[in-house]
Amino acid sequence: KGEKMDASVSRILVFVRLRPMGKKEKENGSRCCVKILNKRDVYLTEFTNENDYLRLKRLRVRHFTFDSSFPETTTQQEVYSTTTGDLVGAVLEGRNGSVFCYGATGAGKTYTMLGTMENPGVMVLAIKDLFAKVRQRSLDGNHLVHLSYLEVYNETVRDLLSPGRPLILREDKQGTVAAGLTQYRAYSTDEVMALLQRGNQNRTTEPTRCNETSSRSHAILQVIVEYKTRDASMNIISRVGKLSLIDLAGSERALATDQRTLRSLEGANINRSLLALSSCINALVEGKKHIPFRNSKLTQLLKDSLGGSCNTVMIANISPSSQSFGETQNTLHWADRAKEI
Ligand code: ADP
Ligand code: MG
Repeated sequence: KGEKMDASVSRILVFVRLRPMGKKEKENGSRCCVKILNKRDVYLTEFTNENDYLRLKRLRVRHFTFDSSFPETTTQQEVYSTTTGDLVGAVLEGRNGSVFCYGATGAGKTYTMLGTMENPGVMVLAIKDLFAKVRQRSLDGNHLVHLSYLEVYNETVRDLLSPGRPLILREDKQGTVAAGLTQYRAYSTDEVMALLQRGNQNRTTEPTRCNETSSRSHAILQVIVEYKTRDASMNIISRVGKLSLIDLAGSERALATDQRTLRSLEGANINRSLLALSSCINALVEGKKHIPFRNSKLTQLLKDSLGGSCNTVMIANISPSSQSFGETQNTLHWADRAKEI
């Protein structure tokens, strides 16, 4: 682990969220293999039914610990305040931040990020909080809030607020920008949930299951807050902060974590952006100078929001079902590694 020279460099905060057991899972007799205690400790139990066809046997229990772990009863509001609340404050000060939901398909990423009309998730609660904080400020000058919502699918970038042709990424002095991306000027929270729900419906679906969002699609909400005021000599000062909230593609089949494996898998039907994100995180973990942001569209887009002086939060979503044991174990290992940054 490299020496951290810059005092402002912050590490990645890693959280785990366990979703409740689904109805179908209960009906088909799957057992609960995850327990969360003290809001920190995660216990993963491996069952085996070998040598015993009547009862599953407990084989062994693994223990993990994170900055916070959320049991299945945790509310959306609690997840938001613990993981993302501070980042919203920092964005108002002109700092960039990002929050990722990582995990297998069905583990609860979209529920955590977008949520439902009744139980809005991190994206909506962040914007609500942002507007509340802006109102509280009795400062001169004004805040502009812009939203963009885009998808990376199969290394193609699309605008979820105004679907159409793929967008081209360009480098400019503000970092990587998607040319022609809709910058939606937001005034209030009320309009935002509907906007995001509609955007989510524009995500790419699998050809075979046309109502389901593809497990290979990444959705990125970017909230840009610009604060403009005048200094003593009446010059305009502007400060910009960006918050990126990312509902990642399903992590199943994307288990490679190093550069060599990444290359050997490129030909295969594997999500390049997710692998590239893992590579960047590995490079950050190892304290490398060169972070391979250019390897995918997702990492290019997030170059200015990952590592360095940016606040980065990972929420690893897991299912309690023993049928998802393998995926849960992989997700926990991945999260455990990200913790070292
Ligand atoms: P993913 O986006 O990771 O594929 P979803 O967010 O779509 O998974 O979640 C799968 C299912 O589980 C959905 O029906 C969702 O409503 C439900 N679900 C996920 N997390 C929770 C939770 N914390 N509380 C209640 N239901 C949840
Ligand atoms: Mg989803």
